[in-house]
Amino acid sequence: MPLVIAMDGPSGSGKSSASKGVARALGLRYLDTGAMYRAMTWWMLRAGVRVEDAGAVAARALEPVIVSGTDPDGPTIAVDGEDVSGPIRTREVTNAVSAVSAVPAVRTRLVDLQREIIGAGGIVVEGRDIGTVVAPDAAVKVFLTASEEARAERRAKELAADPGASVRTTQAEQARRDRIDSTRKASPLTKAADAHEIDSTELGLDEVIEAVVRLAKE
Ligand code: C5P
Repeated sequence: MPLVIAMDGPSGSGKSSASKGVARALGLRYLDTGAMYRAMTWWMLRAGVRVEDAGAVAARALEPVIVSGTDPDGPTIAVDGEDVSGPIRTREVTNAVSAVSAVPAVRTRLVDLQREIIGAGGIVVEGRDIGTVVAPDAAVKVFLTASEEARAERRAKELAADPGASVRTTQAEQARRDRIDSTRKASPLTKAADAHEIDSTELGLDEVIEAVVRLAKE
């Protein structure tokens, strides 16, 4: 059975860097499922769909063609043939993504795509519902956490080019997103019963990667 490593946790917990590092260390592919929800959201916004209107979002959820590249050294994401790696990271998309990803039709569509990609071989998959819904049989499940302050600081650094993104604004927007992600009806963010919780607040990236690699080799 190809090795599947599920990496779940809230935003800013360090999932992306850790997941890519683990994939590199073990020679596995890497899938960022958050990028797929962001790509769907970017497409909805561009299509003029009101993202607060769940019915309108559901009605169009099958339209965008979303393609994820799984090389941990250069993951890619395209919608209808257009590279959207940059545009999906804007605050506009970030603040709209929780509404779109709470729509069941969106989740069904993207989970199907994710399972197809996972089925093709060994992979590290990061998201919110990987260990619980997308790949409940994953050999290794990690739930990565960090204090709210540490998470907001990391995100604000990523958004350093955006003048509106102070640590305080980022923290408030992130708390809102986490609240929606954790309380939505469809696949809320929860730790799988058999997931290993790693708190990265006081850990360096290499230490997190090492801890996951150790779990994979057990
Ligand atoms: O990981 P990232 O912060 O880029 O994810 C963006 C959003 O996508 C999350 O806030 C969440 O609403 C949604 N998401 C999800 N399920 C996943 C991955 C992401 O609902 N597996």
